[in-house]
Amino acid sequence: MKISEILSSKKIGISCELFPPKLGSQLDNVKEVVKEMAEIKPSYMSITYGATGGTSEYTVDIANEIQNVNHIPALAHLTCASSGKEKVHAVIEQLKAAGIENILALRGDILEGADYPVQKDYRYASELIYDVKSRGDFCIGGACYPEGHPEAKTINEDLIHLKEKVDAGCDFLTTQMFFDNNIYYNFMYKVLQKNITVPVIPGIMPVTNGGQMKKIISLSGNMAPPRFKAIVDRFSDSPAAMRQAGIAYATEQIIDLIANGVNHIHIYTMNKPSVAGEIFRNLSDIYIRD
Ligand code: FAD
Repeated sequence: MKISEILSSKKIGISCELFPPKLGSQLDNVKEVVKEMAEIKPSYMSITYGATGGTSEYTVDIANEIQNVNHIPALAHLTCASSGKEKVHAVIEQLKAAGIENILALRGDILEGADYPVQKDYRYASELIYDVKSRGDFCIGGACYPEGHPEAKTINEDLIHLKEKVDAGCDFLTTQMFFDNNIYYNFMYKVLQKNITVPVIPGIMPVTNGGQMKKIISLSGNMAPPRFKAIVDRFSDSPAAMRQAGIAYATEQIIDLIANGVNHIHIYTMNKPSVAGEIFRNLSDIYIRD
């Protein structure tokens, strides 16, 4: 099923994200994670793509496992920063052969010290989106950044490029994680001002350990809200307390989004079915699964 169909329903939908293994020997473990995650019945599951494309076959394998073994629609990520057309087209064909209809088309992060562009075929995600669109009947997603992409000089510049990306063929967008819902609501005003009308799915990250939280705070700087910082200060020394507080914080963000009219939310579940399970349980009378 295409994600555009899922998003067109008025029903509340919650999707989950996984990452593929780095080694073939870990493939069975990730397949077990897929099975456990599928049991909580997310509306779809996305599977990330290694920044260099070196483990692309695992992304295809796991997308296949999600959709054809566990019967949950799969969204396969695909990046182009380090791969030329030959490689990208081969992966698109593999996804097509597995019946995967949804691709999140991304540029990918530039590895530290790498010359950019590493290849001459793609410079920005919009070029990849255009290419994917010409190669099959895919539902295509793109990434967006409510606090601005780190490389963009201004949020306005980033939004101009976001509009170009949507015009290249995006059917929906998923946001980078944010920890204050007002950042998303303000972003949505700016998105609409730019005539970007595709669905913008908020991405929520349950932060369940202190180290992860400190790293995110250092990356997002002063945009981490005081309430979020207080949680780190108070609970990061106690893994169990931190986990519980992180799940509660993410649950609250999700409830606020739904209460304000957002029907679909994506959770960065990071191969943690138990965390996803607790969030889904917290929403048991809000998110009704068929
Ligand atoms: P782009 O849309 O190409 O934007 C990158 C930068 O270029 C932005 O600053 C933009 O403003 C600028 N830009 C765009 N077009 C132009 C233009 N024409 N002229 C000048 N500047 C321009 N990374 C992975 O490696 N694997 C994953 O699976 C993955 N999944 C992700 C999922 C989500 C939901 C998100 C939000 C991010 C994900 N990332 C992933 C990270 C992502 O690859 C990086 O954030 C990357 O730096 C940018 O990717 P993009 O597709 O947004 O790039």
